[in-house]
Amino acid sequence: MTDSELKGAVLPALKKPGGAVRDFLRLAMEKELADAVILPMKVPSGDSFAWILMNDISLLDDAVPIAATMPVQGAKALRSLTRKGPGNLKIIAVMRPCEIRAAMELSKLGQVHPENLILATYDCPGAVQLQKYVDDPAGSEEYFAGMLQKGKPDDSAKPVCHTCENFSMFDSDIHFGYLGLSEKEVLVIPGSEKGSALLEGLGLDLTKDLQAWEKGIDQLKADKLNSRKSTFEETKAQLNGFNGLLSVFANCIGCHNCQSACPICYCRLCYFDSETAEQDPDALITAAEKRGGISLPVDRIMFHTGRMAHMSLSCVSCGQCSDACPVSIPVADVFSYVADQTQRTFEYTAGRNDGDPLPLRQFRKAELPGVHELVKDADAEVPSHE
Ligand code: SF4
Ligand code: SF4
Repeated sequence: MTDSELKGAVLPALKKPGGAVRDFLRLAMEKELADAVILPMKVPSGDSFAWILMNDISLLDDAVPIAATMPVQGAKALRSLTRKGPGNLKIIAVMRPCEIRAAMELSKLGQVHPENLILATYDCPGAVQLQKYVDDPAGSEEYFAGMLQKGKPDDSAKPVCHTCENFSMFDSDIHFGYLGLSEKEVLVIPGSEKGSALLEGLGLDLTKDLQAWEKGIDQLKADKLNSRKSTFEETKAQLNGFNGLLSVFANCIGCHNCQSACPICYCRLCYFDSETAEQDPDALITAAEKRGGISLPVDRIMFHTGRMAHMSLSCVSCGQCSDACPVSIPVADVFSYVADQTQRTFEYTAGRNDGDPLPLRQFRKAELPGVHELVKDADAEVPSHE
């Protein structure tokens, strides 16, 4: 189906978009088209949100489908639910596009089993930085309301939101669209057969032309692409050479919070947290004697470059790493820039659900002539997937 043929349905949206999404989920559960839903709810202290898996429809009243900030990346929640298999519950997960994209990457790595999940995204205007939200929940809600109205992130948003080109429909099963529309309405759009089946089961009238919404989204995207270009140029200049990298991460205290918050870093034990990575004290002293001094701990740049090498193909620029950094290093700006370069090199877009496997999990001989030369004697034993 081409984009121009894609149709949606209009949800009764006298309320804000979040209210329309809540009503939609209520209907899906009442009609037993979903056993449960997963979406954010405010924590009792009111200064953050938690992911709640709920099968009790009455809990929906307190849910906040489109939350102002993102404390835990949603893909992590989906991984914890499905890493051992799809389970028996049919669950609708309502998440930001970057969260669904991360879940898609994790599914390619066998960490999320989406078979029984219906992945729902929405037009994301941006997310308030977590620390700002925790410091001032009421003020942050006002900022977020402004972002929803304008369709654009403001200064309270994560820096990566200003450069995010994938803030709208992106390979989810269903999508809620509302940004850029002159009329106050919320559209629900199918993105897969699973999504179409759900909307048909709900009896929604899928005849709404999407051109006005698509035009609005394209305009917002054009602004983001300009911002992305200039931000990446600045980051590139900052990262110039090894000294540039050293300078960006000069304040790093080696806490590895950025790695813990990242949805793609799923390893139970990271090499950089293992005993193997611990430097031998004698070697450190020898190095200090040779060079006249060394900075401790020694693994900081290695940690960041190692992480980039491992996961930049799957980085979805969600900004969780920056939010988690206690010393305000713009980790996500750096990783987004590097991810953009890596993904371009491999002609790959993280989070696509088009059957494309992760590039580093397969290779074509033609892509690696040098390596093929080296291994030609062992060619018969080298697995290849043309
Ligand atoms: S590296 Fe940072 S921006 Fe990229 S996926 Fe991980 S947490 Fe998100
Ligand atoms: S969260 Fe910040 S300080 Fe901690 S390891 Fe990552 S970059 Fe360094």
